Amino acid sequence: MTTAHYDVIIIGGGINGAATASAVAARGYRTLVLEQDDFASGTTSASTKLIHGGLRYLETGDARLVHESLQSREQLLRERSHLVRPMGFILPVYQGDPRPPWYIRSGLALYDLLSPRKVSPWHSSFSRRELQRFEPSISTDRLRAAYLYYDAQVWSPERLTLEYLAEARASGADLRNHAAVDYIIVDGGRARGVDFHDVLTGRRSTASGRLVINAAGPWVDAVLDATGRSLRKRVGGTRGSHLVLDLEGRGPKHAVLASAQSDGRPMFVTPWLDHHIIGTTDVRDDGDPSDVRAAGWEIDYLIAEAARVLPGLGIEHRNALYAYSGVRPLARAGEGVFEGAISRRSFLVDHESEGVERLLSIVGGKLTTAAALGAKVGSEVAQLIGRPRARGIAALPEVPAGRAVFLPPETQEHLRMVYGHRAPQVAAYAASDSEMAKPISRHHRDIGAQVLYAVAHEHARTVADVLLRRTIVGLTRDLGRSAAAPTAAIMANRLGWSDEVRDQAVRDYFAELHRSYVVLNPDAPAEPVSAMPRAVESE
Ligand SMILES: Cc1cc2nc3c(=O)[nH]c(=O)nc-3n(C[C@H](O)[C@H](O)[C@H](O)COP(=O)(O)OP(=O)(O)OC[C@H]3O[C@@H](n4cnc5c(N)ncnc54)[C@H](O)[C@@H]3O)c2cc1C
Repeated sequence: MTTAHYDVIIIGGGINGAATASAVAARGYRTLVLEQDDFASGTTSASTKLIHGGLRYLETGDARLVHESLQSREQLLRERSHLVRPMGFILPVYQGDPRPPWYIRSGLALYDLLSPRKVSPWHSSFSRRELQRFEPSISTDRLRAAYLYYDAQVWSPERLTLEYLAEARASGADLRNHAAVDYIIVDGGRARGVDFHDVLTGRRSTASGRLVINAAGPWVDAVLDATGRSLRKRVGGTRGSHLVLDLEGRGPKHAVLASAQSDGRPMFVTPWLDHHIIGTTDVRDDGDPSDVRAAGWEIDYLIAEAARVLPGLGIEHRNALYAYSGVRPLARAGEGVFEGAISRRSFLVDHESEGVERLLSIVGGKLTTAAALGAKVGSEVAQLIGRPRARGIAALPEVPAGRAVFLPPETQEHLRMVYGHRAPQVAAYAASDSEMAKPISRHHRDIGAQVLYAVAHEHARTVADVLLRRTIVGLTRDLGRSAAAPTAAIMANRLGWSDEVRDQAVRDYFAELHRSYVVLNPDAPAEPVSAMPRAVESE
C-alpha cells in the first residue's frame, strides 16, 4: 500500500468539490480529489440545469442569496458562454394560481434590481394576444397575466464540473475518479488523511493531508461516519425528479415557469438541446443517494402538469425518454419544516468543535454558486493551514493544438460548444487519425477524437464516463445505444482492452444507464399513479 502526501484532500468530485479543487490548487496547495464514482455523477448530474438567482428564494426573504447567485450567473455568462446561455422564461399566471399578478410583477422587478449590471434584458409583460404569437404552445385559458424574464441554462453541468477540474489539474491537482474513501484517519483529534480504494481495480491506497474537505453532497453524513466517530448529521436531503421529453421539434422555444395545478408548486419546462426538461418534484428522501430514482407518481405528475400548461402539444408518457432524480444536499432542517422552505444556502462546517480539527464539510450549494463557494473555501484553507508548503504537483502537459485539421463546420461548431477554447486540442486527435474525425453514432455529432480526449485528458475510464458525462450522447436521442460499441472499441484500442473487456464495457454501460435513469419505453405506459405526497416546493 502506498502513501502519498498532500496539503488538501477533497472527498467528492461533484461541482462543489471540483470548484473547490480549482480554487485551492490555484493557491498552490498540493491537492487530491477523490471521487467514488465518476466526476459529476452525483447530484450535479440531476439538476434542472439552471444558472439562476432563484426567483422563488425572494419569497423566503433570502435576497442576499439571490443577489450573490445573480452575480455568479452574470460571471458564468461572461466567462463560460459556450456552456452557459441566457434563457428567456415565460411566466403565465392563471385564475386560481397561488400567486397573483401584482405579486409576481413585484418579485420580477426586485429580481431585476438585484442584478444591476446584467447582460440580459429586464422583465416585460405580454397581453394574451402577444403571448399567443410569442409562444403559441402555452395555454391562454383562464390566463390573468404573463411575463417574460431572463435567467440562464448550463446545458451540461457535467462539463462545467470538468472545466473546474481541468483548471485544478492545470494547477497541479491530482484527480482520481472511481476512487472511494473508506476511512478518514483521525489522530490526536486531527484529520490526517484518508484510506481509499479504486473501485474498478480494487487497489487500496492511503493519502495523508494537512486538511480534509468533505464535499460529498448528499453523502456528507456517510463520509463523516468514515471518521469512526459520532459526528452530528448535517444533511437532510430531498429528492427531485425530472423528465426529458422528445417533442420532435414541437416544444416551446422558451422556458416556461408555471404553478402546478394540482399543488401550486413552481414547475419548469425548459428547452434543452433538441429536447425539453420538465421538473421538478421535492420529496424528503433519507435513502442511499446512490439508489435514487423517480417514482411512478412523479412521472405521472410531471406529464400531467406539462400537458396542462402546454395543451396543444398533446404531451403524453410516450414523449418521455427517461426520468432522472437527485437528492438535494440541503442543510438538515427540523421535522415539520416545509421542504421548499429549507434554505438553499451553502454552509462550510468546521468539525473542530466536535473534536476533529482540520476536517471541513460543505453542505448545500448550487451549480450557480459553486465557483464563489470554492473561492470562499480557498480563503478558509489559507486561514487554517497557512501558506502552501511547496508548489503543487507538476501539471500534465496539454495536447498541442494548431495542426490544421479538416472537420465539417458543424463538427467544429459542436467541439467549440462542448470544449470552448480547448476545442482545437480535441480536434488534434482527428488530425492524427482520420477515423477519429467520424461521428461515433449516426444520431450524434460527437466524434471519435472526443473519446480519445476524454480518456487521455478527462479521466474517462468507462463507456458511461464518456457517453454520460464527457459528452451528452447517452442523455439525448437514442441514449447512446448506437454509440456504446464504437466508443468501447476506441477505448479498447487506446487502453489495450481485450475483446472480452471491451464487450463487458458495453454491457456495463447499459447496466449503468438503466441503474441511473428510469428509461421510459415509448411503447409501455409508466407506472400507475400511487399515493402522492403532500404539496411541496421546487428549485
Ligand atoms: C432536483 C434538483 C434540481 C436542482 N436544480 C438546480 C439548478 O437548476 N441550478 C442550480 O444551481 N442548482 C440546482 N440544484 C442543486 C445542485 O445540483 C447541487 O447543489 C449540486 O450539484 C451539489 O453538488 P455537490 O458537488 O455538492 O454534490 P454531488 O454532485 O452529489 O457530488 C458529491 C460527490 O461526492 C462523491 N462521494 C460521496 N461519497 C464519497 C466517498 N466516500 N468517496 C469519494 N467520493 C464520494 C459522490 O459520488 C458525488 O459525486 C438542483 C439539485 C437537485 C437535486
